[in-house]
Amino acid sequence: EVATGSLPGWDRVEELARAAHARYRDLDDGAVADYIPALADADPALFAVCVAETDGSVHAVGDAGVEFSVQSISKAFVYALVCEQLGHEAVRERVGVNNTGLPFNSVVAVELQQGHPMNPMVNAGALATTALVPGATPQERWEHVREGLSRFAGRELVLDEEVHRSESATNARNQAIARLLQSYGRIDHEPAGVVDVYTRQCALRVDARDIAVMGATLADGGVNPVTRERVVSEDVCRDTLAVLASTGMYERSGDWLFEIGLPAKSGVAGGIVAVAPGKGAIGTFSPRLDAAGNSVRGQRATAYLSRTLGLNLFASA
Ligand code: GLN
Repeated sequence: EVATGSLPGWDRVEELARAAHARYRDLDDGAVADYIPALADADPALFAVCVAETDGSVHAVGDAGVEFSVQSISKAFVYALVCEQLGHEAVRERVGVNNTGLPFNSVVAVELQQGHPMNPMVNAGALATTALVPGATPQERWEHVREGLSRFAGRELVLDEEVHRSESATNARNQAIARLLQSYGRIDHEPAGVVDVYTRQCALRVDARDIAVMGATLADGGVNPVTRERVVSEDVCRDTLAVLASTGMYERSGDWLFEIGLPAKSGVAGGIVAVAPGKGAIGTFSPRLDAAGNSVRGQRATAYLSRTLGLNLFASA
């Protein structure tokens, strides 16, 4: 009785979201990220599963109201905002859309491509993308990012000052990547300012419900299904989801697409958002990560929901 092109009824989605949470609650594989000191304090027991539908309904199970820093999940939405402003071809020329096959913070990847960052989901490409945000000063660019991501979430997002301070004190590697990009003419602004805007965007506080709604906005052709506000165009959503499919889970993107069949983006604080075009999005949060930096319980819960809700894009039935 499941209509093609839509999710099963509200009760069934609710039941499956609860089942996904119950199934993986006790899984304790993986480790909390500690290269950013403020993240090391996260409670590894936290676990949230949310589903936001394009009709505006939201299912929230577990620690769905507990905030964490959005981290690399921000990259997907900043990319969408920049494409909306500049057009995707300009961004593609500067940043690219191909997987590096290397970890998200790789310096080697940049050198191998003579300074081309390859895609907007690794740190190099995200820095190059953030450098394209409109605004005369880093302060203006930061406000643009904060307001844009807030529109995706449907509420005012705020900076986690402690995470921002902690990462700013320890992000020598991102500073180095930004300098390297500057040397290749891939960023036009002062690198330190670009890194600061990037570090702030990563330190925005969200909960699992927020990332589900943000993802559902991409699923809904750019209209936030809860506020009904248009954030970006349909074309930008399509382009962003294509980039997420090939690069959103870093060097594990192929495995992820093979197993789960949905465009997705992870962050090192433990969030993952997976988008089912036209239908909705799954937002999960659990701080223990695998070696590529993707939440272990989040991956399993998303796989379960993709399977049981029939979301895999490559499945014909
Ligand atoms: N702010 C983090 C960094 O630059 C984001 C990385 C991530 O979430 N994978 O290292």
